[in-house]
Amino acid sequence: MARRHSLENDNRNYITLSDYETTCRRHGISDQSEMLTLSNFLHSLGICLHFQKDPILRQTLILKPNWGTAAVYKVLDCDRVKQNLGQFTSADLADIWSDRQYANLHHELLQLMKEFKVCYEIPRRPGNFIAPHLLSPASPDYPWNDRNNLTLRYRYQGFMPKGILTRFIVELHRLIENVSCPNEALVWKTGVVLTNGSARAEILENQTHREIQIRASGNRPRDLLTIINHQFETIHDSFDDRLNYDTLIPCNCSICKPSNKPFTFPLDRLYACLDQRRYQIECHESGEDVQVRGLIDDVIWNYPTESERLDDRDAPDDYLRNLYRDRKRHRQKSEHQTPTVNVSVTVPVNNTNNNQQEQAMTESSKTNNFNAPMSGVIGSDNAQVSHNIFNQINNANTTELLQLIAKLRETVTIFPEETQDAILIDLEDIETEVQKPEATQNPKKIKQRLMAILAAAGIAATGVAEATDFANTALDLGSKLGIELKLPSAP
Ligand SMILES: [Zn+2]
Repeated sequence: MARRHSLENDNRNYITLSDYETTCRRHGISDQSEMLTLSNFLHSLGICLHFQKDPILRQTLILKPNWGTAAVYKVLDCDRVKQNLGQFTSADLADIWSDRQYANLHHELLQLMKEFKVCYEIPRRPGNFIAPHLLSPASPDYPWNDRNNLTLRYRYQGFMPKGILTRFIVELHRLIENVSCPNEALVWKTGVVLTNGSARAEILENQTHREIQIRASGNRPRDLLTIINHQFETIHDSFDDRLNYDTLIPCNCSICKPSNKPFTFPLDRLYACLDQRRYQIECHESGEDVQVRGLIDDVIWNYPTESERLDDRDAPDDYLRNLYRDRKRHRQKSEHQTPTVNVSVTVPVNNTNNNQQEQAMTESSKTNNFNAPMSGVIGSDNAQVSHNIFNQINNANTTELLQLIAKLRETVTIFPEETQDAILIDLEDIETEVQKPEATQNPKKIKQRLMAILAAAGIAATGVAEATDFANTALDLGSKLGIELKLPSAP
């Protein structure tokens, strides 16, 4: 009885995987894959954090994402870490996370920082870490051979999220020149030099022009550019449709090739040409016709045609072979993309140190804009959840719908106080939509709000039995609206 009581008043920041499984079983979910689907669902909605692919974090469900985020910011906002230009050690972490709420959790929190792509461990220096966005903004001196460079640029329209380069640096930190010697490593706040064999690439963030500018030199620079481009594509993809950018490929005509400022073509346009079997394109600088395939092939190892089979290609190594497959998948995915539902739910901040956390978040977002990479990470493995169908809204009886909404509103008290507001706001939004003439209703919005409510019920299911009733009412409302919302089967 005591155990049941403690679970039903669950106000913990995190629970272990086996705790989670136990509570799932108590609520009739006995299939382990269903349990993981549910936690993945909650994770993708930002309701809890469960990084299932990470061997350490897989064992822990962080029930309050803001609590986890605040722990991460505690490190990034630490004066000593800032003074050390982003360098810190395990000993620093033990000090920063000395509070009882983080006891026995340092491993997991460090892993969380890595999952959020805000720091990396310095290779061959275990226990030493770098948070790249706190590095010096000053570029170090280094030699550069600018003969026959390959170049590539990303130009962002509208806005350029600040976290992109930081995340890129974390992802590819193993390739940073002199990475193991912090004083000589060619990485700074707005740039990095990567090496791969004898190829080198310089990647610079130019906020004024809203560009990432890349040039590569040495032997087989195209291999390195391919790796770099793939990484940027992965990061860009994690923003879904919120990011508007062009990948700019330099022209290789006789005028542009030797020039420092060649004409450039957006990569998407080149792909579109190939898709339409147009194999030449005109350079707007010289008027020369150039080969579309040649433009792409000069820079990245990439575009497959129907007649080409992977095995016929002169693949440099397995890694690139995989990128090649990835790229193909990526293109197929973007061609057949179904609209995804992005639900943002305000997860309440732990009451005990509310102000402190709020402050930390605000200060940090001023300088780093971490939300972007984090939401990218959080949203990155939500495959199963976003495809649950959303049909046309049927002409259901409005009174009936309003009754269901009223019922949900009445039972909202089963949730922790801080969750109630979020649910009530969602319900209000649904009510507003339902009362509109059908033609002007926004079914996507209704579905989003319903998903958010179900997710709230899902979280509470680890503590409150009435949540099942609540979820069933929400599902009922969904089906009366013609919206199918699939959750793992309840008893
Ligand atoms: Zn040209």
